[in-house]
Amino acid sequence: MTGAAETGEPRPADVAVIGAGVVGTAITRALAVRDVSCVLIDAANDVGTGTSKANTAILHTGFDTVPGSLESRLLRRGYELLGEYARGAGIPVERTGALLVAWTPEQAAELPAIEDKARRNGVTDVYPIGADELYRREPALGPGALGALVIPGESIICPWTTPLAYATQALAAGARLRLRSRVTGIRARAMEHQVVTDTGVVRCRWVVNAAGLHSDAVDAMMGGDRFTICPRRGELIVFDKLARPLLSSILLPVPTARTKGVLVAPTVYGNVLLGPTAEDVPDPADVATTAAGLASLLDAGHRILPGLAAEEVTATYAGLRAATADRDYQIWVDGSRRYACVAGIRSTGLSASLGIAEYVTGLLADAGLRLAGRAEPDPPVMPYIGQAGIRPYQDAARIAADPEYGAIVCHCERVTRGEIRDALAGPLPPADIDALRRRTRVLNGRCQGFYCAATVAQLFAGSRLPAYAAAPAEQSPAAESPA
Ligand SMILES: Cc1cc2nc3c(=O)[nH]c(=O)nc-3n(C[C@H](O)[C@H](O)[C@H](O)COP(=O)(O)OP(=O)(O)OC[C@H]3O[C@@H](n4cnc5c(N)ncnc54)[C@H](O)[C@@H]3O)c2cc1C
Repeated sequence: MTGAAETGEPRPADVAVIGAGVVGTAITRALAVRDVSCVLIDAANDVGTGTSKANTAILHTGFDTVPGSLESRLLRRGYELLGEYARGAGIPVERTGALLVAWTPEQAAELPAIEDKARRNGVTDVYPIGADELYRREPALGPGALGALVIPGESIICPWTTPLAYATQALAAGARLRLRSRVTGIRARAMEHQVVTDTGVVRCRWVVNAAGLHSDAVDAMMGGDRFTICPRRGELIVFDKLARPLLSSILLPVPTARTKGVLVAPTVYGNVLLGPTAEDVPDPADVATTAAGLASLLDAGHRILPGLAAEEVTATYAGLRAATADRDYQIWVDGSRRYACVAGIRSTGLSASLGIAEYVTGLLADAGLRLAGRAEPDPPVMPYIGQAGIRPYQDAARIAADPEYGAIVCHCERVTRGEIRDALAGPLPPADIDALRRRTRVLNGRCQGFYCAATVAQLFAGSRLPAYAAAPAEQSPAAESPA
């Protein structure tokens, strides 16, 4: 427990959500729109900077989850909810479908069982195709594929806009966001909890633990010891946009008990993604890529799509799955302690996020948290940063009304001064240039910022951000002062 100063807030929040990843922001959104007063706390300087920014960005149907598991149920529900939400919010989604490819007779023999599993998970539109049809659909596929299972619902989605949309809506509904505040202890009391952070104490009635890779540590602060997070690192390679014509669907391997395996997928930014690896690592901060990991990916990628060998790599990164000894999600609510644990959201949390939030909200209500019965409000309209739709630089009417949308700053990604200006002045402004990248795609392209970094830095420095960036940020519509 730290000796941090008390905030002196007059009234405790109803709920403090620890962790502003895609899961924590989704839960905060779901509670805030039901008139629950929430504080969303994160150690980082932005929402969605943990595993939520470093995944494979697939909107999973849940076809290959364990039938009857909580993950299967919430993923199925989350898939439907997020598809609908994304349409309203302008979160980029492309309905590419997936082909689960069998490369050996043993894998081909597994396809009927995977099809049956998909049906038991409620994903009923899957069907097998033979090698001829597979190569007709994906002519650049490497030699030797024997057939595939088509999963039409698998899609690609923007992992950055999703938590930003949830947080934006939560803020608009009155939630407070407290960034750069690491939770170091929790004083669990009969009437209220005191969440101790390194920037002060947050008083609340209920605690929601959505701390991802650190959810076991936060659970221990509430006296729990039911699970341990074993980080499982996944390294990925991003290929340049010139590789995009090599495939039209997500190309999946036959999964193993341990991992979904190495896939090749388009991204909503127009790139091609190869990965992830699966390696247990002791350090929950170890997001380094390794020569061996990347070499193994290239080896697999060149077999799946030989044309990748001639394509340039734009970026590499790694994310950590919050794995536990139990394969399923670790979600429960303890009404007597006014505590919700939302952990072990390993490989599917982006897709399941709204299903998880709906489920947790229901459990909290059953345990005594009062929710207003309001109808679900429309999502906020987010800046569109996908490749498939119309971006501002392509929108003549928009440029005529505001020429800043015609002034391209980042030429690789076609990001305009108008979009950067909007992001800097938005309801959840970026605290650094990487956060600006997740809002606009600026610096995300093949030149790695060689041509535009100086201009972007200048625009960033000229914004009102230095003051905001310097303050330990608790952000709310009323611009509360930090503790
Ligand atoms: C390689 C890889 C590929 C994946 N691919 C997909 C995919 O294609 N589709 C899909 O749906 N899912 C995918 N996932 C899973 C998905 O990314 C995760 O399930 C999801 O991001 C988990 O979100 P979260 O909010 O639980 O965790 P996080 O995003 O990690 O958020 C937890 C937050 O808690 C904060 N925090 C932790 N401890 C503290 C503390 N003490 N005080 C304050 N803040 C704290 C952290 O700063 C962090 O921001 C993938 C994951 C990996 C690793």
